Amino acid sequence: MSLDAKIPEGPLAQKWSKHKFDLKLVNPANKRKYDIIVVGTGLAGAAAAASLAELGYNVKAFCFQDSPRRAHSIAAQGGINAAKNYQNDGDSVFRLFYDTIKGGDYRAREGNVYRLAEVSVNIIDQCVAQGVPFAREYGGLLDNRSFGGSQVSRTFYARGQTGQQLLLGAYSALNRQIHAGKVKMYTRTEMLDVVTIDGHAKGIVTRNMITGSIDTHAGHAVLLCTGGYSNVFYLSTNAIGSNVTAAWRAHKRGAFFGNPCYTQIHPTCIPVTGDHQSKLTLMSESLRNDGRVWAPKTVEIAEQLRKGSIKADQVKEDDRDYFLERKYPAFGNLVPRDVASRNAKEMVAEGKGVGGSGFAVFLDFADAIKRLGEDTVRAKYGNLFDMYIQITDENPYKQPMRIYPAVHYTMGGLWVDYNLSTTVPGLYALGECNFSDHGANRLGASALMQGLSDGYFVIPYTLGDYLAKIGPKKVDTTHPAFEATKKDVVTYINKLLALKGNKTVNEYHRELGHIMWEYCGMARTAEGLTKAKGLIKALKADFWVNAIVTGENEEVNASLERAGRIADFIELGELMVDDALMRNESCGGHFRVESQTPDGEALRDDENFAFVAAWEFKGENQPEELHKEQLVFEAVHLSQRNYA
Ligand SMILES: Cc1cc2nc3c(=O)[nH]c(=O)nc-3n(C[C@H](O)[C@H](O)[C@H](O)COP(=O)(O)OP(=O)(O)OC[C@H]3O[C@@H](n4cnc5c(N)ncnc54)[C@H](O)[C@@H]3O)c2cc1C
Repeated sequence: MSLDAKIPEGPLAQKWSKHKFDLKLVNPANKRKYDIIVVGTGLAGAAAAASLAELGYNVKAFCFQDSPRRAHSIAAQGGINAAKNYQNDGDSVFRLFYDTIKGGDYRAREGNVYRLAEVSVNIIDQCVAQGVPFAREYGGLLDNRSFGGSQVSRTFYARGQTGQQLLLGAYSALNRQIHAGKVKMYTRTEMLDVVTIDGHAKGIVTRNMITGSIDTHAGHAVLLCTGGYSNVFYLSTNAIGSNVTAAWRAHKRGAFFGNPCYTQIHPTCIPVTGDHQSKLTLMSESLRNDGRVWAPKTVEIAEQLRKGSIKADQVKEDDRDYFLERKYPAFGNLVPRDVASRNAKEMVAEGKGVGGSGFAVFLDFADAIKRLGEDTVRAKYGNLFDMYIQITDENPYKQPMRIYPAVHYTMGGLWVDYNLSTTVPGLYALGECNFSDHGANRLGASALMQGLSDGYFVIPYTLGDYLAKIGPKKVDTTHPAFEATKKDVVTYINKLLALKGNKTVNEYHRELGHIMWEYCGMARTAEGLTKAKGLIKALKADFWVNAIVTGENEEVNASLERAGRIADFIELGELMVDDALMRNESCGGHFRVESQTPDGEALRDDENFAFVAAWEFKGENQPEELHKEQLVFEAVHLSQRNYA
């Protein structure tokens, strides 16, 4: 099968407008004849469900939490980018496009990224109209701050809880449609499979997480808005519930998986304290607007700090190495995340790490407090500081924060074309669930932008084209494909419930996480990845013999839910390792130790690897087939990223 990204012809700036005109339309009176299934009601899914219902389609929406308000999106802290240029500091649609392509280390599609930058401005207007309380300046205009990888201030924010406020906006729009009878919402319902008929997605199979009832739902199209898969690493900043099951099961039904190894390690997280932890906490990138990252200049001082014989504020200015400011004067502390993370790791490797474990560097606000006053710093970042105090019992107003990189976001995901269609017609992927716009490294504040762009502004157009082509002929669950897929799901659940070994599924998850972090984390080598593949295969075999799954299907059963998700994570982990091994270059967050510049920066190999890797499932325990979508760059010149 050859991959067609369906990027429209014509000049970059006109592609989207032209495409929208070329797309077929469903007339308003016919829209009510179509049923659309939206799985996931985080920012991408809630935006899509509300917009499609507003257009007149009948929407069924699903989430596994007890309310859409609890989607992982609510955790987003720092902000959302948009090329409004309110600051008059040189921003433009083209600059946001350029920063995003460069930030992704030239591994994203130009056409998609330009569209993202173009509609970013509409997102802000949409959210303001919904009442999202973005921060404002003294004069009443919307305020902005900076995020990594850019030299302008284009990030709109609501203190350190931007995701929550945006989600409340999208959730209000969704509720309006639920009330109007255009969206039927299914909470505590987990999608476990996609139903295809003649190669087209026509529905899903779900499990009611309260009663265990296995049900089928039919629709003219299925939209997966099910988030990212960082939890394959066990410890990540994602919500504990975030998982890959919906995407992975769709993958097994024919949807290619794009760039699975592209993972983002965020530089500013609260360091790991031990094996008792099941979750890590992010300290938003926005803190790098005012916080200065440093490590002690010498190993001796670092040792004193580790032992606790001196405190950070006792380290003299001359004995501090503000390593990001030193190495990257043009961007300073706001270099992209992959660059900041690797530098922190380097400091630790040189023996200059701080904190009890030695796996941390400092993020210091002393200068900002001196310059702006504690009240101003509190007003900007108060909730983040409070969170830090509650978790560490240390006061960042008095001593610098200790931070270290942690897994945060997955740029990989289901492969989609320009219309957000997966390789299964009728099956779409939106938000973090798809691989689309961030290349090998996502810039801060761009995920919310992408999820809302997909949901509010892209899918309402592109889905119509597909629906107009297939026509409104009723689809219902009486087709034998529904019963057959349901049977597969029930068989799989029974297989999980039959596991009566002596190791909890959580233990398998933790072991998988260790393997992924060690060999497919911040630095990857051919040798390590080969070893990881063997370890994951062994873990999988062991899981299906020695895992224990307790309880029954017909009840609330967290053990069963977790077992299914972890079995999928294990399989995904193997594909991530295959992808990382295949990509014998460094780019963005994918750092192959064998491919680096003399300064230790990621060294791309554009001649051989300027492509999207799209993997096709070929059957249980079979190697997946790699398809390559060649990336074509017309508007930007590929160069070694330089933030100095
Ligand atoms: C701590 C933190 C802070 C962040 N801060 C920012 C920020 O400041 N700016 C920014 O741009 N990005 C930020 N991000 C990234 C951003 O929050 C996410 O990428 C984004 O919110 C993902 O939205 P989504 O709608 O794609 O998925 P999610 O919000 O993860 O929603 C997934 C939905 O899918 C449902 N679902 C999943 N699987 C199933 C299934 N099998 N069956 C039924 N339902 C299912 C869930 O119930 C949920 O409703 C941050 C991320 C983290 C971890």
